Amino acid sequence: MRPKIVAGNWKMHGSKTMVEELLNTLKKSTKNLNTEVIVFPPYIYLPQTQTILEDSHIQWGGQNLALAEQGAYTGEISAAMLRDFACGYVLIGHSERRQYYHETDDDIAQKCLIAARYQLTFILCVGETLEQREAGNTFNVIKKQINAILTLENWRDLLQNAILAYEPIWAIGTGKTASPEQAQEVHQFIRATIAEQDTKTALNLPILYGGSVKPNSAKGLFEMIDIDGALVGGASLQPDDFTEICQCNS
Ligand code: PEP
Repeated sequence: MRPKIVAGNWKMHGSKTMVEELLNTLKKSTKNLNTEVIVFPPYIYLPQTQTILEDSHIQWGGQNLALAEQGAYTGEISAAMLRDFACGYVLIGHSERRQYYHETDDDIAQKCLIAARYQLTFILCVGETLEQREAGNTFNVIKKQINAILTLENWRDLLQNAILAYEPIWAIGTGKTASPEQAQEVHQFIRATIAEQDTKTALNLPILYGGSVKPNSAKGLFEMIDIDGALVGGASLQPDDFTEICQCNS
């Protein structure tokens, strides 16, 4: 039985006041739901997040991690530093990292290996652009992104403690959600691609959908058999919306 998960990616949003208010609200509003709730604040708010959330049901993680484990890498944050603030999770390969910071599939695979070395559960994000979808290349693009992991020697071990997120780039921050059927088609393809190598790993792997998920689109998405939850951007900053999305997956 796969866990149900709703994760909030705050991106570069927030302030000390906002973190305090949002997390204290979510602590109450998402209590006793049958879904795992995870938040990804900007790095600088991780100490505050830890203070507010320790002893609560909500987990937290980093939006990224450095490719190196330590050293002269100005501005970077290592996996060990995330662990120092009790992060259990890390986002890897978000399309904004791929697009704006030129992260390659190889960088992303290395980051997954580092995350696993530090007992961080990674959420590996994959997804196609609108041009790729319209050219009929969605499955090829997704397969290439997943193969970056499946070609690693210990990929089975890596995926034991991992989550995948299908995030079509054309749906991120645009207000255009993929329809439940469009999302299910790709989720099913991801699971089948992994099942070709190992059925058990594929069946146990949680796959989240991300891309403009809102309370009114969440229910239909969560009814799909291969959609185990959501990675939520914009709506995760709105306590009522994020709570409602968590309730839809409970
Ligand atoms: C995201 O950043 O992962 C995301 C899905 O954003 P949004 O929900 O705003 O589209």
